[in-house]
Amino acid sequence: MTIDKFNFAGKKALVRVDFNVPLDDNGHITDDTRIRGALPTLKKILNDGGSLIIMSHMGKPKGKVNAKLSLSQIKDAVAKALGTEVKFAADSADASEAAATLRPGEVLLLENLRFHPEEEGKPVGIDKADPTYDEAKKAMKSLQKEFAKKLASYADVYVNDAFGTAHRRHASTAVVADYFDADHKMLGYLMEKEVKAVDNILSDIKRPFTAIMGGSKVSTKIGIIENLMDKVDNLILCGGMTYTFAKAQGGNVGNSICENDKLDLALDIMKKAKEKGVNLVLGIDCVAADAFSNDANTQICSVMDIPEGWEGLDAGPETRKLFTQAIEPSKTILWNGPAGVFEFDNFTAGSRAIADAIVKATKDGAFSLVGGGDSVACINKFGLADEVSYVSTGGGALLEAIEGKVLPGIAAIKG
Ligand code: AMP
Repeated sequence: MTIDKFNFAGKKALVRVDFNVPLDDNGHITDDTRIRGALPTLKKILNDGGSLIIMSHMGKPKGKVNAKLSLSQIKDAVAKALGTEVKFAADSADASEAAATLRPGEVLLLENLRFHPEEEGKPVGIDKADPTYDEAKKAMKSLQKEFAKKLASYADVYVNDAFGTAHRRHASTAVVADYFDADHKMLGYLMEKEVKAVDNILSDIKRPFTAIMGGSKVSTKIGIIENLMDKVDNLILCGGMTYTFAKAQGGNVGNSICENDKLDLALDIMKKAKEKGVNLVLGIDCVAADAFSNDANTQICSVMDIPEGWEGLDAGPETRKLFTQAIEPSKTILWNGPAGVFEFDNFTAGSRAIADAIVKATKDGAFSLVGGGDSVACINKFGLADEVSYVSTGGGALLEAIEGKVLPGIAAIKG
């Protein structure tokens, strides 16, 4: 079933959203992007004459009640965004009555699902090495089914609009779907958009295709780097990864972030790129700093020759030119991970060069997808989010989807 085709009139809809919004110390929302992202789905259901049971996680309470991560803190913001009152169920596993009395147009928000360990389905307080772990896991999986069944019992129809958690097989993201037939479960609008954006990248690739991978470490991105190698024309590896590659080639990287146990891996990536005819773009110069601080002294130097006590925190001017040259003529672009410590205003130039080139290519007709927490924060910092084709709400989910993995949250609905 698709959300557009379904008439929610008189139906109760259980909607999994990602309301894992950042809060300040006073419990105020500092960025409501995720709430706004879910509005088209939520409003469609209300406008049809349905009622809403909204469920989400927030943070990592690890199966325990934690007032700092209570969704009650965002109830009023959700009500304001929807323009209607929102009721609150203080225990997501004990909301049968509240759900049963919901009338068309009414909204019930369930408490943070992860206050129950059953949501994630992982045993709590037992180490993986413990001999009883497997048994505990099996028991927890069965409790997870019970929890999912309980959630399902609240509603007539299930909608998953939480792309950020689609790569997890949790009670609310996947298991719950087993309790609805194919005509009564569907992806929400945000999910549909995310799936389409990934599809644009994976099938129907317009060339040249350039992927830009940044961030701090090679180790966390290796899966996707290897996978992209078969698809892209240009692969830009930047950010902290730069220095692992420089060291692997015999460079002196000073205090720069460097994964010494990944030097062989770096050389292997270079070899594979050559074999596959991929234009691998690595940093050649950097903005080095004498401390990990926005106010540090800086100098431009070769990534192969960073003085002792200095560390590369951003891409240098020659490297930025290479980025621009590769990106601007591209027709398909994927960006995940900044090219420097963009959180410091003095080390944003590399990421800014990437963002500017992507914006230009997009104006020239490229499809550009920016995803993963830090790149989204980065493009927002530059105020350029509206000038790329699509900004994904998914971090891990986006990368796994692009690696070609089947996401449990999507498979549970689409089969
Ligand atoms: P990741 O979570 O792996 O995508 O990494 C994102 C983080 O990498 C951001 O917080 C950046 O500040 C950081 N980063 C990017 N370039 C560097 C660098 N040259 N040195 C240290 N950290 C970096």
